[in-house]
Amino acid sequence: MSTRQFFVGGNWKLNPTSLSKAKELVEVLNKAELDPKTEVVISPPALYLLPIQAAVTNKQILVSAQNSFYKESGAYTGEISASQIKEAGLPYVILGHSERRTIFHETNEVVALKTRAALDAGLKVILCIGETLAQRESGETAKVCEEQLSAVVKQIKAEEWSNIVIAYEPVWAIGTGKVATTAQAQETHVDVRAYLAKAVTSLVASETRILYGGSVNAANAKDLAAQQDIDGFLVGGASLKPEFIDIINARK
Ligand code: PEP
Repeated sequence: MSTRQFFVGGNWKLNPTSLSKAKELVEVLNKAELDPKTEVVISPPALYLLPIQAAVTNKQILVSAQNSFYKESGAYTGEISASQIKEAGLPYVILGHSERRTIFHETNEVVALKTRAALDAGLKVILCIGETLAQRESGETAKVCEEQLSAVVKQIKAEEWSNIVIAYEPVWAIGTGKVATTAQAQETHVDVRAYLAKAVTSLVASETRILYGGSVNAANAKDLAAQQDIDGFLVGGASLKPEFIDIINARK
């Protein structure tokens, strides 16, 4: 087993439908017995970030934004800057989620600029990458992941990778109930690590955490967590359910 700390993030997306329901989720986590070896991050919608941060009493649980813009200020209606997130005391931001890439047309270059700005502001980044079903079926998985990462590699120095956690999330597995097999996930994680070794350094390749995301639940988490190159999970749907605790404890 590697020295990389196991990491489990809960991406709440645009859920739940009210702040009181969001606080109920936090209450469950506050009371739970969480594996102290797991780094735990929850990511509520923007307007809930501050009240949820205040509601978290278990200091093991960190709070992350789901997005940040690459400019610090100006005429960018609707955007939130990385420095505003940092000033609010939030340590992490998720960038490059496939929903942002697909629905909001974020290109690899935009994701890279956002990553640059987030690191400049002092945030840590959960950087999402992953292929569509058509890309997997045409054998392009490694190439797509490399292209997504290469835009970021161009923007950051080797020593900054310690502030990035990569989340490999095959688009076909997100919210679909179709989880990648442990072999498919492990194989892509190995490819991503090999790319980091080639494009950055072997130290960065061995130290960067690579999470798997895509229909992770309590039933499949243990097998996935036992894979050599799977360092944790980014969890969508199941992070809104009590089974999130089992996922946090998948290596216990
Ligand atoms: C996600 O949104 O990052 C995700 C992995 O979603 P789900 O777990 O619901 O597939």
